[in-house]
Amino acid sequence: MTSVIAFIGLGHMGGPMAANLAATGRRVIGFDLVPAELASAAAAGVEAADSAALAVAEADVVITMLPAGRHVLALYGEQGLLAAAKPGTLFIDCSTIDVEDAVRAHTAAGEAGHRALDAPVSGGVTGAEAATLTFMVGGAETEFAEATPLLDAMGGKIVHCGGAGAGQAAKICNNMILGISMIAVSEAFVLGESLGLSHQALYDVASTASGQCWALTTNCPVPGPVPASPANRDYRPGFAAPLMAKDLGLAANALRAGGIDAGLGGRAAEMYAAFAEGEGATQDFSGIVHALRATTTDRNGPAS
Ligand code: NAD
Repeated sequence: MTSVIAFIGLGHMGGPMAANLAATGRRVIGFDLVPAELASAAAAGVEAADSAALAVAEADVVITMLPAGRHVLALYGEQGLLAAAKPGTLFIDCSTIDVEDAVRAHTAAGEAGHRALDAPVSGGVTGAEAATLTFMVGGAETEFAEATPLLDAMGGKIVHCGGAGAGQAAKICNNMILGISMIAVSEAFVLGESLGLSHQALYDVASTASGQCWALTTNCPVPGPVPASPANRDYRPGFAAPLMAKDLGLAANALRAGGIDAGLGGRAAEMYAAFAEGEGATQDFSGIVHALRATTTDRNGPAS
């Protein structure tokens, strides 16, 4: 039997993801609070519903792609999604949210007689459009097996990370590595500049030595060495700094909740929060290199 899928949240990510599912010939019923988002999804083959509750009424699987945990929990609970669904519906939340909120979402779905997975993604809008997203999935084996063909239609790599919340845990741990490593690479370039080292020379050494990492070799924060990196197009995202700030905020919450004294993760969250509120609001997260240069100039006087 082919599942009927409800897809709630048709924004930057959800819109193309729902369109890719519909392109496989499945029936996808969508809803978004923003009429323009609903209209673009409808133009891409998604059946438009008048409300989230109406979208889920006929569905076997409900996928949500929403901004934050509070949206997911409100939609599941007081906005009536769990109550509107058929018994035993599989709820897959692909939003990036707190691990604790993800566990709450699993519990709420279970108490309402449904089943749940957390399945956040990496790969950005480009990956959503090209159906090459990586899905990090938390929940039971049976539900994971049932969801895999659907996730395959939207992604290139599907990893079962463990029980409830494990997908969100993998997502924030990975992005904490990325946030910290981008700051480390940027600090190294700024230090190199002050020592008279060219960007290319540092890149040629570090990219094949022990400093090698994705932040350096794919998303290099200075223009030149990696032509496709956002630094070469005025830091247009890419992965927007406010999204990195959000993910590091989730990581910082989890560090606090776990009583873990991870100095770098906490500091990276503070740095990205400040950057994203200011000049970084519309930039790729690699633009953090500007914030580091600004601090250097303040301390040492204007660069000559
Ligand atoms: P977005 O703001 O473009 O889309 C969210 C959509 O949810 C909006 O269209 C909004 O109208 C809709 N929405 C909110 N509340 C709703 C409700 N109650 N009912 C129906 N629709 C509702 O955000 P996005 O960029 O698509 O990101 C979605 C999620 O994916 C976020 O959790 C984000 O952190 C995560 N994510 C984003 C990226 C990226 O590059 N954009 C990458 C990986 C993960």
